[in-house]
Amino acid sequence: IPVDPFDLVIFGGTGDLARRKILPGLYRRFWDGQMPPEARIIGAARSEMDEASYRAFVRDAVTEFVSKRKCDSELLDQFIERLSYVAVDARGEDGWEQLAGMMRDGVVKAYYFSVGPSLFGDIAERLHRFKIADDDARIVVEKPFGHNLETARALNATLARHFDETQIYRIDHYLGKETVQNLMAVRFGNMLFEPLWNAQYVDHIQITVAETVGVGGRGDYYDRSGAMRDMVQNHLMQLLCLTAMEPPSKFDPDAVRDEKLKVIRALEPVEPHDIVRGQYRSKDESYLVDVENKDSLTESFVAMKVHIANWRWNGTPFYLRTGKRMKERVSEIVVRFKEPPHSIFEEDTGQSANELTIRLQPNEGMDLTVTIKEPGPGGMRLIDVPLDMTFAEALGEEAADVPDAYERLIMDVIRGNQTLFMRGDEVEAAWAWTDPIINGWEAREDKPKPYEPGSTGPEEALILLHKDERRWRELR
Ligand code: NAD
Repeated sequence: IPVDPFDLVIFGGTGDLARRKILPGLYRRFWDGQMPPEARIIGAARSEMDEASYRAFVRDAVTEFVSKRKCDSELLDQFIERLSYVAVDARGEDGWEQLAGMMRDGVVKAYYFSVGPSLFGDIAERLHRFKIADDDARIVVEKPFGHNLETARALNATLARHFDETQIYRIDHYLGKETVQNLMAVRFGNMLFEPLWNAQYVDHIQITVAETVGVGGRGDYYDRSGAMRDMVQNHLMQLLCLTAMEPPSKFDPDAVRDEKLKVIRALEPVEPHDIVRGQYRSKDESYLVDVENKDSLTESFVAMKVHIANWRWNGTPFYLRTGKRMKERVSEIVVRFKEPPHSIFEEDTGQSANELTIRLQPNEGMDLTVTIKEPGPGGMRLIDVPLDMTFAEALGEEAADVPDAYERLIMDVIRGNQTLFMRGDEVEAAWAWTDPIINGWEAREDKPKPYEPGSTGPEEALILLHKDERRWRELR
């Protein structure tokens, strides 16, 4: 279903994020018929560039990042015609009058701030001063949303001077993933899971976001941030919220976000012995070399045990881990159910327990491990088998060719649906929980444990679960 006609301005329209994600994503929506032909995209950035050069830049980006099959020349030509460019200086006066003149009446207006957060205030102020944004306009802001509670509050206050909370779309692209939304469908669209979704039946939950890449070209930014700020405060926190939250009364932006906020507020402070920090290091490859800071104490890996202090989750730990240069690229949530209270089978190994795995990448899908009888004449021997549901297999390749998180979220912005965007108070609550943890490390000058690149992280992370007689789902 096509969305309403829109004018979308991308500040930072020549940047890396625009090139790799936003513009190719918009083209895929156009190709699918979801972006109406009257829609317009205006790139706005610092470089002096004419419209023809910008169109050539976007054509290259689309050709590079969208599958060949979709780069059908006629549709791509039509898409390219929807593009314009204006050179603006976020901190100066140049280009703003021109941008004001380009915006049309009677269409949805959206402004994507794909620039560093230090420019958010300048852009917001100019959008108002030059009467570019009206009361219905939407702004989209990227991570990082603050560096700690104080800076996140300041950023929220800056945006609030010019925009109402209902106009602000804070992107966490994890929320745009098909499986993440499916997690809500599975939990609240079935009778099967929700009655068991609590401390009485769930032994523990694991959330893993592991990357195989190192810090790459972002060393400078990453070293000032680290895994806790870059991944846990936002992405893992969002996954934790959707897994742990109470059923909202309806699938409406504030109903969902109210429930997520309650989870964050119920998080207990984490004791130092429940956290392991790591830094990848071997004789050939080292975090310290990658970030060009031989004394860095920043973590490229973190694993922790987290408790949610409420009725539903009392006594059920959530184990979180994320890191760079790990063995496998995987994002998944594993819900491990308890073992049956009494076994009636003599040969039962006692190992059987149901496990629901929600995979965000690769191969978005879910699988549920169930215990069955091993087929054959060997008596009542039990084995665990997966009831696998990889979307590509279950729904056919075409249906599983799901939109990328960014394109889905941008269409939600145009539709005016904030459900999958973080509210200001959520972001602040998440920082309020992470700040004391990070401040504790800094005060103690806590040294991250070294781990071999391409491994599962420091040994201490394995011990964190062994101590509780549990283990991480294996990375392959
Ligand atoms: P980038 O450095 O590649 O691009 C920055 C863009 O901002 C350029 O188009 C530049 O012209 C424009 N710009 C800079 N200063 C300006 C000014 N004074 N006036 C007008 N335009 C100006 O950055 P990026 O990687 O595209 O990232 C953009 C934002 O998105 C950052 O906040 C980043 O943290 C965030 N982000 C990026 C990624 C990613 O994968 N690249 C992922 C998540 C979040």
